[in-house]
Amino acid sequence: MEATEATALPDVKSLSMDELTARFNELELPSYRVTQVLEWLYRRRATGWAAMTNLPKTLRESLAGHFNFFVPALVACQGEWGGTQKFLWRLADGNLIECVLLPANPGIYGEGSDRHTLCVSTQVGCAYGCKFCASGLEGWKRNLTAGEIVEQILSIERWVASQLAPASPPAKPDRYIDNLVIMGMGEPLANFGALMKALSILNAPWGGGIGARKITISTSGLAPQIRQLAAEPAQFRLAVSLHGATDEVRDRIMPVNRKYPLRELEAACQEYVRLKGKMISLEYILIAGVNDSLSQAKPLAELARRLHAKINLIPYNRVDGLAWERPAESAQEAFLDSLLQNQALATLRREKGHDIDAACGQLRLKTERAARAGV
Ligand code: SAH
Ligand code: SF4
Repeated sequence: MEATEATALPDVKSLSMDELTARFNELELPSYRVTQVLEWLYRRRATGWAAMTNLPKTLRESLAGHFNFFVPALVACQGEWGGTQKFLWRLADGNLIECVLLPANPGIYGEGSDRHTLCVSTQVGCAYGCKFCASGLEGWKRNLTAGEIVEQILSIERWVASQLAPASPPAKPDRYIDNLVIMGMGEPLANFGALMKALSILNAPWGGGIGARKITISTSGLAPQIRQLAAEPAQFRLAVSLHGATDEVRDRIMPVNRKYPLRELEAACQEYVRLKGKMISLEYILIAGVNDSLSQAKPLAELARRLHAKINLIPYNRVDGLAWERPAESAQEAFLDSLLQNQALATLRREKGHDIDAACGQLRLKTERAARAGV
């Protein structure tokens, strides 16, 4: 009974400042209370109303009765501090999501050097079923709410603060995460509304304060939503998961290509580039014997040139239970050379997360399978 009531309450971290202000007005609270609460939520990363010690106790109790306040529980963390680290979180309904903290990595996404980049999930599972991907292996469960997307940043920052100063709360309530890549579990553009809401909160000066140019959204190629994103005012960066330069190759590994074949995807990307005036990235995982033939390099380079896009080559990360492999380093280099010879802008990522199941969805899949097996 109580749980039902609690879930029906608005989630405080899914609300914009205007929405929160409207609710506080209804509760006849002065507007400075909104400022105080926002400071606690996004600067001080409070874990509940009780922590907001400059609010009267009766007010904190009253707010707890009007808003849902959720903080996910850490289930697992893989990797070493300073390197790529992967985190598995449990949501209120028991579902598991992942996010990945990436070490400083000069200029892969965004301008200049990416300092502290977090790879964020937008759905539990994924409906798009790309053949090589762990996130899609067991289908789609649900969309994340805006608050659950926002919480990933806050939860990681709390964890970082606890590592830096285990016994005390963070002295400086500044942002630790300054770059976001929306490349975790799920297809971000299939959860468009919640994603836009979360990013507006993370971008707002009263919220996360993370610049739109420091936020990269990755999509498997949902052409209509790419156009929708192009019409949004915010200047997010766009990365398109291409993984094949012809419909024949793409159809084999990405079912979404049957719905939005390359011609349609390219037209949507052209519109994005035209309206935003920004360079997009084409992500291309190299999978041995599937898409690494040099016959793909020429059409890939041509497509990138037409779109004025840069190509990020990523060696495939093995997924348990799937037979796909990354090509030998020499084959990766040969593919890169061929792109460069065809006058494309391209880089090859020397993957850092290979040893910790960095590809999205793997840690969750392993944990859920182990739980089912009673391990
Ligand atoms: N659904 C979105 C974003 C999440 S996937 C998308 O597909 O773009 C983020 C990126 O990880 C995508 O480029 C995806 O193709 C890639 N990826 C998935 N599985 C991978 C694996 N095993 N190794 C390397 N990259 C992988
Ligand atoms: Fe979904 Fe992206 Fe994985 Fe494809 S690559 S199954 S779209 S998460």
